[in-house]
Amino acid sequence: MLILIVEDSKDISLLLNRYLEEMGYNDILLAYSAEEAVDILGLNKANGSINKGVELILMDIDLPGLDGIGACQKIKFNQWYKDIPIIMITADNSTASLEQAFKAGAIDYITKPVKMIELRARVGSALSLKQEMDSRKTREKELEGLTRQLKEANRILTNLSYIDGLTGVANRRYFDKYSDQEWKKAFREHYFISVIIVDIDFFKHLNDTEGHPAGDECLSRVAGALSDAMRRPGDFIARYGGEEFVSVLPNTTLDGAAIIGETMRTNVCGLNIPFAQSKIVTVSIGIAGTIPDKSRTLQWLISEADRALYTAKKSGKNQVKVF
Ligand code: GH3
Ligand code: MG
Ligand code: MG
Ligand code: MG
Repeated sequence: MLILIVEDSKDISLLLNRYLEEMGYNDILLAYSAEEAVDILGLNKANGSINKGVELILMDIDLPGLDGIGACQKIKFNQWYKDIPIIMITADNSTASLEQAFKAGAIDYITKPVKMIELRARVGSALSLKQEMDSRKTREKELEGLTRQLKEANRILTNLSYIDGLTGVANRRYFDKYSDQEWKKAFREHYFISVIIVDIDFFKHLNDTEGHPAGDECLSRVAGALSDAMRRPGDFIARYGGEEFVSVLPNTTLDGAAIIGETMRTNVCGLNIPFAQSKIVTVSIGIAGTIPDKSRTLQWLISEADRALYTAKKSGKNQVKVF
C-alpha cells in the first residue's frame, strides 16, 4: 500500500509519516510541493509512463505554487488516477475551500493539527471505499467478459440450430426461414427465383442392401457434391428431409438453374459411389422458377419443382427436368 503525502511543512509531513507507520503503512512517499507530487506520479511525462503504484494521496490544501486544489484537479484529470482517493489536509475548514476541494475530486479532509485517531478513521474509510470500488470494477469486467461469451455462444447455437447434423448442410428450419425471405425479396424487386429439388435414386434399396450406416455416409457425400455446385453467395442447399435436398437460387432464370442442376447431377455421378442397383449412386432433379406475383406462393413453386422431379423419376432417373 503506497501512500503519497503532499505537504510543504516538513514537521507536519514527518508527523503524518510517523502516524501512518504506526498504523502499519510502511510504503510512504513524501512530496513538498504540488509540482513534486505531479513529478512523482509521472503525470508530466509525455509518453504516459505514469507511476501506478500510489493508492492513496494525502494533500495539503495550502501549498506554495500550484495549491492542493489545483494539484487535486490535475491528478483527477488523469485516467488512471481518477479513482485514487485524495484526502485533503487543511488548517482552514471554511466551507468555501472545502467545497472547492470536493469539487476538484477530493474524497475527504482532515483538519490541522492532525490527530492520529482522525487520520486512522479517514484513511481507513477512504481505503475501504477504494477496495469496494476496485472489486466492483473487477466484477464489471468479469460481467462484460461473460456477456461477450454468452453472445458468442448464442451465435454458435443459432448457427448450429440451422445445420443438419448428418450432412453438414443447412436444415429444413433454415430453408423455411430463408426461402421465405428470398421469395419476398424477389417479389418486391421483381426478379426471377428458381427452386431445385434433388432426390437420391433407389435410396431405399441402397439402405436395404448396403445398410443404414452406408446410407448415411452416402447422404453426407451427396450433400457435399450438391453444395459444390452452388455459385453465388445467395445460393444455398438444404436437406429437405430424408434423402431429398432443396436449393433456392435468387435472381436465377430456368436456364441458369438448369445448368446448376446438371452440375449437381454430374457432381454426384463423379463421386462414383458403387451401388449394385444402378452401378453408381445417382440423383434425379426437378426445377421450377418464376417471378413471384400475388397469385403465387413459394409452396406453389416448390410443388412445381416436385412435379418436375416426379417426371425425372418417371423418365428413368439420373436426370434433370425443368417444369
Ligand atoms: P426413388 O428412386 O424413387 O427416389 O426411390 P427411393 O428408394 O430413393 O425413394 P423413397 O422415398 O421410397 O426412399 C427414401 C428412403 O430414404 C427411405 C429411407 O429409408 C431413406 N432415408 C431417409 N432418411 C434417411 C437417413 O437419414 N439415413 C439413411 N440411411 N436413410 C434415410
Ligand atoms: Mg501548507
Ligand atoms: Mg424421396
Ligand atoms: Mg429417392
